[in-house]
Amino acid sequence: MKLNKVVGNLITKIPWFVVCGRRNLSSGVEKERVDCVVIGAGVVGIAVARELCLKFRRNVLVIESGSTFGTGISSRSSQVIHGGIYYPPNSLKARFCVRGRRLLYDYCKEHGIAHKQTGKLIVATRNEEVPKLNHLLNRGNDNGVEGLKMIEASEAMAMEPQLQCLRALWSPTSGIIDSHSFMLSQLGEAESHGTTFCYNNTVTGAHLEGNQIYLHISETESLKNWESQQHPPSPPDILLVPKLVVNSAGLSSAAVARRFSGINHGVVIPPSYYARGCYFSLSNTRVAPFKHLIYPIPEDGGLGVHVTLDLDGQVKFGPDVEWLDHIDDISSIQNKFDYTVRGDRGNRFYPAIRKYYPSLKDDSLQPAYAGIRPKLSGPGEGFADFIIQGEESHGIPGLVNLFGIESPGLTSCMAIAQHVATKLSSRLGPSF
Ligand SMILES: Cc1cc2nc3c(=O)[nH]c(=O)nc-3n(C[C@H](O)[C@H](O)[C@H](O)COP(=O)(O)OP(=O)(O)OC[C@H]3O[C@@H](n4cnc5c(N)ncnc54)[C@H](O)[C@@H]3O)c2cc1C
Repeated sequence: MKLNKVVGNLITKIPWFVVCGRRNLSSGVEKERVDCVVIGAGVVGIAVARELCLKFRRNVLVIESGSTFGTGISSRSSQVIHGGIYYPPNSLKARFCVRGRRLLYDYCKEHGIAHKQTGKLIVATRNEEVPKLNHLLNRGNDNGVEGLKMIEASEAMAMEPQLQCLRALWSPTSGIIDSHSFMLSQLGEAESHGTTFCYNNTVTGAHLEGNQIYLHISETESLKNWESQQHPPSPPDILLVPKLVVNSAGLSSAAVARRFSGINHGVVIPPSYYARGCYFSLSNTRVAPFKHLIYPIPEDGGLGVHVTLDLDGQVKFGPDVEWLDHIDDISSIQNKFDYTVRGDRGNRFYPAIRKYYPSLKDDSLQPAYAGIRPKLSGPGEGFADFIIQGEESHGIPGLVNLFGIESPGLTSCMAIAQHVATKLSSRLGPSF
């Protein structure tokens, strides 16, 4: 449906939806004043919209380029609720993961969202990995992760008879969640408190008039032939003039921000790197070999090819790390990513998995799916934190950009939403 029809419907449905001063620009592009816009209906954008409308009674319009919610990174994750072990103390990832995990478990219990606190074993399979495990234990303790315990190989292998390791770190607070049901529940709450989700519409850029942002919106379908780095094939269908904007566009949030004219790009927008991660599932296995999440020592760019479980107990392995080159901003905004899982990629999985699961049979892996991480550091560059960027960085009142929301973004989403609301609090008014 065209966005101006959606906004038009809102005028009749919700008279207090802040639509003031509708007029046509001389260019012929319609202009609408709105209250809050969230760009992107992934797990984070949905959580932010819910927070803004529930706690601050704001009317929120979520613009999503896909045909429904959660079709980006959020539908391609491991669905693991992380403890908060891996990240440097006081980083946003550490703080939001620990807080977000607690919020997520509470939410799941209150709203009947399928989840399971399975616990997780991080395993050292070579002598030189044991100090790394000790480092993770110390880091997790510093981050306030509850119940971490170093256990001997015999204890770990008693918990998981198919496992082989030298030592293991037991994290009892880790678990799994049905992330689709979670998004659906949060989306339903947001909708019933004044949020409108507008699908099939893409934010192609923005400009500033004074300190006011004008968002350029086009129907996604009309952008199919958009290839140049410059302008979309036709003028935007509508300009939205919001009081608040949260750019939660996942893989393309930096690409979208680079198309906001008037921002000092060199200083505030980080470079984009993309790392694909493939999953393989176990075929011909009636009984799942593991009951807990099993993770190796983390590798550059990811947490290592690990065992994840779904809520039916089925096992899958992944994601690996494959750095993608040559993704330009327009392709990113149009989600022109290659999600194919090539069968031959499995050849790298067998040796990686057999380090901790030696009885993995030949030819037992089959391609499952792939996800892509929005990275802020490239190969070998080490840790990069989430960036949640407000007026203090870019100077534009009412704009928050979310960059690099890779793992543990699902676990952290409710804490991120609270943080975004705090950042905007001077403009949001009292909470309820
Ligand atoms: C392989 C993999 C495994 C992971 N596993 C875990 C895990 O086990 N646990 C965990 O906590 N985290 C995990 N994560 C991280 C987690 O999945 C993400 O942090 C989270 O899903 C990000 O949500 P999001 O809303 O920011 O992004 P998205 O889900 O990508 O949502 C962004 C939305 O914006 C839309 N969009 C983009 N550009 C535009 C535009 N210009 N206009 C309008 N809409 C636009 C997209 O269509 C998309 O729907 C994993 C990530 C990956 C890649």
